[in-house]
Amino acid sequence: MTSFADITTIGVGGTIARFIEPTSRVGVIEAVEDADSKGLPLCVIGGGSNMLVADTPFNGVVVRDARRRITVPDEAAPVENGERIVHVNAEAGCNWDDFVAFTVELGLEGVEGLSGIPGTVGASVVQNIGAYGQEVATTVESVEVWDRKDKKTCDIAAADMGFGYRMSRLKASMYAAPATPAADFFPTPRYVVLSVTFALRHSATGTVGYGQLAKALGVEVGDRMETRAIRNAVLKVRAAKGMLEDAGRYENPAMTGTKRAEQVEIARRAQTDSPDYDRHSCGSFFMNPILTADAAAGLPEDAPRFDATLPDGTPGVKTSAAWLIDHAGFHKGFKTSSDSSAGLSTQHTLALTNRGGATAADVASLAKTVQDGVEAAFGVRLVPEPVVVGLDLR
Ligand SMILES: Cc1cc2nc3c(=O)[nH]c(=O)nc-3n(C[C@H](O)[C@H](O)[C@H](O)COP(=O)(O)OP(=O)(O)OC[C@H]3O[C@@H](n4cnc5c(N)ncnc54)[C@H](O)[C@@H]3O)c2cc1C
Repeated sequence: MTSFADITTIGVGGTIARFIEPTSRVGVIEAVEDADSKGLPLCVIGGGSNMLVADTPFNGVVVRDARRRITVPDEAAPVENGERIVHVNAEAGCNWDDFVAFTVELGLEGVEGLSGIPGTVGASVVQNIGAYGQEVATTVESVEVWDRKDKKTCDIAAADMGFGYRMSRLKASMYAAPATPAADFFPTPRYVVLSVTFALRHSATGTVGYGQLAKALGVEVGDRMETRAIRNAVLKVRAAKGMLEDAGRYENPAMTGTKRAEQVEIARRAQTDSPDYDRHSCGSFFMNPILTADAAAGLPEDAPRFDATLPDGTPGVKTSAAWLIDHAGFHKGFKTSSDSSAGLSTQHTLALTNRGGATAADVASLAKTVQDGVEAAFGVRLVPEPVVVGLDLR
């Protein structure tokens, strides 16, 4: 019986009553609609890289889209706004890094900075993935979805996706308040992504948009470099921080075939810098808090502060979750006890890792310890970035 431990990057979570992998568009819609019409708990899962699921059995349906095709409808590259924009469509089940590798190989610019982010194309737009100065939102043209409420398919234009920092209209449909599931659509959004169409620029070079990356490449922020070089540097920087998923997970029969074999091999070689015990995580476990100016004024003077927008559209101040965690006394490698099988990554303060044999309860208990400690020190309650199912991390 497949369990969430088999199909999530952090490797915890209970058994699944019904696991379905549709291979056609209509099959995905039917699987979702069948569960919804019967009122069964439904989880549409991609790479399982942004989920922490409880240890208890999941008495519902888990759907994983097995369609992974990438197509280039206008390979002739029409000229739009004086630029050569190429549209690329990818089915929701396509592995995200397979997609990035494909676009870089094709000489397209736009997502190279998002190399090495685990997961699927379908989920990339749910939390608007971002890294090293890029966000997927800037390249999305439209998203084809199944609307579980109105029971129809539709195309959502990027402008209507409600993209923000780790946020979209899809993710918003899952929450009544931060970390508080909505009654109707959780742990999967109202809109199930079927495919995403991207608008990418025909160019073999891209802009280096982030200091750490510029340093690794020996250039300045804003300089242009070959997209291939950017991709390789991103993979290197990620490996050094333990921010690549464990390539070994694709040996698990439940994961085999979900990522292209040659990309698994490249990922295996890229991760040699990171110790095995740091590789089983959900990536960053907490979001960077966006505070009102008043709340931010209460932070220590040296806390990082960036201009940001609050959920209600008014100006706010973004601070660093990693800084707060570290300054509340939880340093890299922290564990609640020396024999605990869950801990902060030794390479990255924001990642909670399963050191081997951890349960979801162990990870949740560590998360709560960090949340409570940061709140006691700074009055800020950290909100988890992963979708937390069957556990309460408010
Ligand atoms: C090592 C590591 C590094 C990471 N680094 C980054 C990073 O740099 N930047 C970043 O933004 N994220 C990062 N992440 C988080 C994660 O990779 C992304 O959030 C990714 O987009 C999740 O994709 P997934 O397919 O694994 O989603 P899952 O974990 O399978 O699902 C996440 C949510 O999306 C929903 N979902 C999945 N597929 C669909 C679909 N087809 N339609 C509708 N909803 C769907 C699920 O129901 C769930 O609610 C990292 C994670 C790890 C493990």
